[in-house]
Amino acid sequence: MDIRHYTVALDVDPNEKSINGHTEIDLNLSKATDILLFDFWHGLTISKILVNGKEQKFSHGNDDLIRINSSQQPGKVKVKIAYGGKPGVATRPPWTGGFQWDKDGKGNPWISITCQGEGAKIYFPCKDHPSDEPNEGADMIITVPKGLVATAPGILQKTTTKGDKTTFYWKTNYTISNYCILFNIGKYKMVKRMYTTIDGNKVPIEYYVTEENFDKAAKLLELYEQSCKILEKYFGEYPWAKEAIRASETPHLGMEHQTNIAYGNKYRYEKLGDKDFDWLLHHEFGHEWWANKVTNRDWAHMWIQEGICTFGDAMATRELAGEEAYQKRMQQTARSSSNRFPIVRGEQVDSDSAYHGDIYGKGAFFMHTLRYIMGDDKFFPTLKKLATDPQYTYDNTVVTADVEKLFSGAHGKSLEPLFQLFLYTTNKLEVHVRQTKDNEYAVKLLNLDMQIPLDVQTDAGIQRVMVDKKGVAVASKTQLVVDPKVFYLKKVIIE
Ligand SMILES: [Zn+2]
Repeated sequence: MDIRHYTVALDVDPNEKSINGHTEIDLNLSKATDILLFDFWHGLTISKILVNGKEQKFSHGNDDLIRINSSQQPGKVKVKIAYGGKPGVATRPPWTGGFQWDKDGKGNPWISITCQGEGAKIYFPCKDHPSDEPNEGADMIITVPKGLVATAPGILQKTTTKGDKTTFYWKTNYTISNYCILFNIGKYKMVKRMYTTIDGNKVPIEYYVTEENFDKAAKLLELYEQSCKILEKYFGEYPWAKEAIRASETPHLGMEHQTNIAYGNKYRYEKLGDKDFDWLLHHEFGHEWWANKVTNRDWAHMWIQEGICTFGDAMATRELAGEEAYQKRMQQTARSSSNRFPIVRGEQVDSDSAYHGDIYGKGAFFMHTLRYIMGDDKFFPTLKKLATDPQYTYDNTVVTADVEKLFSGAHGKSLEPLFQLFLYTTNKLEVHVRQTKDNEYAVKLLNLDMQIPLDVQTDAGIQRVMVDKKGVAVASKTQLVVDPKVFYLKKVIIE
């Protein structure tokens, strides 16, 4: 089953905290089948299922699976599922997701959804696996009480008002992750400015803001543009330039929803250099490249999304506060790595097990290590290639081995042992140092089968030597300090 498109049409009732409507799924079957399966939370009630226009028998159990008994030949299939009820409420959004039925400061309904961990099946029927995005995009048709605004991915096609209800028709033509196919509702005002991308395309930056924070919107747009310039410099053009750069203010902290970032950091800016900076906006926006454009095929490789996105956060530090501030940030990251679980725990883990703290910081630090080993001239273009080459982006998904092959190819030597050590184990690089003469030390690697550069501080200053398991002799009148600027997660054994 290859999902091509979703249409999610829902009437949202803030008083009842309920939804009612249908989802239409367009898909291609590569083989004949007697049964169609979809993921869908058992707490919502299905009233009817049509397959290619014909009503079908189905079951929908506590295992959150819809089983439709329907014989189908290979080819196109259209499934329409009508349903309604009270969706699950988020207990700790955005980390533990669901619906959030909140009110803004003026008492207006303020509704958002988060489901990165839970999946979109919590509120619409779908094939809930990162490997199968709807290649032709998604339509969202959201009906709300008049006076409220619904925002969703892509471009607003039209709004219609009938009686006391308004319907918002949103459409994205881009491939999109299930957990980004969702809406926010609020008494929003919209502010916008035009942005010219690094490739010269014009795209609006829009912010849907609650009335009470309207006066803060212009500044947020400015910071949005600042972050966009930084991210485009390192990762190439904004991925959805034919649609929009957008954020909607949400009652939770934030999430990377494609073309419609959820922003809830309450305008708490920090200073990087002499510039204001919003870390949350920048991070979630970075996911437009790392998660939304470059998508891991399986949760096991989620570090590609979170780790490289976090490296993008460090690039903001580098751009706004300088290289030294970036180095400091990375040293702090190294100290905070827990090394409790490997970053890649194998393909047979669920999303919760794959998702742990080190995929962020240690993942970002791994990029820092690669940058050091390869040098800026090779590293940065290679990273940009990962974010721009068709074979890694949009319809194509990636795993860690794809990243390794790309970087090894650019490096000219295999980096596989390095990927193995830092991503598939919790071991640190072990560097052995032994004094061999009055003014000489032997330095060798104990657990990495390749040659890497290594900074050593001697009485003459910091030198860069090439080191491997055989070892190298380094002259120094003072005790050697290995890797003083911290380019590696390491353990130094001094004999
Ligand atoms: Zn993130």
